[in-house]
Amino acid sequence: MNYGEFGGQYVPQELKEKLNEIAKEFRKAKHNKEFNKEYNYYLKQFVGRPSPLYLAENLTQYAGGAKIYLKREDLNHTGAHKINNAIGQILLAKRMGKTHIIAETGAGQHGVATATVCSLFNMKCTIFMGSEDIIRQRLNVEKIKLLGANVKSVTRGDGTLKEAVDEAFEYFVEHKDVFYLIGSAVGPSPYPEMVKYFQKIIGEEAKKQILKQDKKLPKAIIACVGGGSNSIGLFNDFLKEDVEIFGVEGAGKGLNSGKHACAIYDNKIGILHGMKTYIMQDNSGNVKDAYSISAGLDYPGIGPEHAYLSTIGRVKYDSVTDDEAINAFKIVCKLEGIIPALESSHAIAYGLKIAKKYNKEDSIIVNLSGRADKDIETILNLK
Ligand SMILES: *Cc1c(COP(=O)(O)O)cnc(C)c1O
Repeated sequence: MNYGEFGGQYVPQELKEKLNEIAKEFRKAKHNKEFNKEYNYYLKQFVGRPSPLYLAENLTQYAGGAKIYLKREDLNHTGAHKINNAIGQILLAKRMGKTHIIAETGAGQHGVATATVCSLFNMKCTIFMGSEDIIRQRLNVEKIKLLGANVKSVTRGDGTLKEAVDEAFEYFVEHKDVFYLIGSAVGPSPYPEMVKYFQKIIGEEAKKQILKQDKKLPKAIIACVGGGSNSIGLFNDFLKEDVEIFGVEGAGKGLNSGKHACAIYDNKIGILHGMKTYIMQDNSGNVKDAYSISAGLDYPGIGPEHAYLSTIGRVKYDSVTDDEAINAFKIVCKLEGIIPALESSHAIAYGLKIAKKYNKEDSIIVNLSGRADKDIETILNLK
């Protein structure tokens, strides 16, 4: 599926065949009652959905404007939204008769979610992870191993997420029994569409909850954007409504510092990991290293649907720096008794800023994509 000029399948022929097999099964499964029933069963009984839509009264008072509601994806099993997608894709892999799941991971969050569902469904699991990331994300590496998965260290290039994805694709092409479980709304078709399908539950729930709790739609909804899965998951059900939508990229040390992760702000179209989208590149078209204090936002590209939603002006993409995110992180800890992931802290920082634009009777929803267990070391190292 294409999103305007974005998306597509920029991959070798052998891979195309495997992708099309997945696409065919996915489109069948989407309309299959049993499949959706099973997916919803695990979301409820294993993940703990629906996640609450929490009116953060102290934050609301602090910001001084619209009521701020937090969609609590941090309360999901394994601590973030990623498990929604992992459950969906492994059920699809099972339907296809696959026995070996592979996944890439940067910060380790998607690696933990994937290892978790592989343990649940008794499948062999290999997690590709850059050698640098293995050192930086010790805690998650240990969790992945405890869950029974293998961690494959990727040493080429910078030894980070980008290289881990490349190696996972190569392994995927070479092995017949393998299903590649991608962790964000990125990659070649059908992944962006499929990941959205398994994440759109966030926005479906949030819409029902706000209509019940606040009796009307919110003025605005906000989510952070790494590859773009928690954000498209929240946005999807609101795209046709009269609601302002904001995606927040990681501005790192500032937009002019060159050390950021803002693919849309960078405004260069290119091809990476099988998709055409906005990709951070130098003048000769080499992919630039992204930087953000939060590993989940530290990706040089962005999902193709976001690229499209940006060009048609339906979603406004903006950014928040490391310092602004850390400040919001501390405020939420002190005022709400919630320790948010650094990724989610970007969305909250933006929410605090724009809440003031609206009246007290209005509301906004911020997606609290995950909790901060994985970030505590980073926070401690700041001092
Ligand atoms: C991985 C992650 C993100 C970023 O990924 P998206 O695909 O853009 O959602 C955001 N928040 C948390 C907590 C994460 O673990």
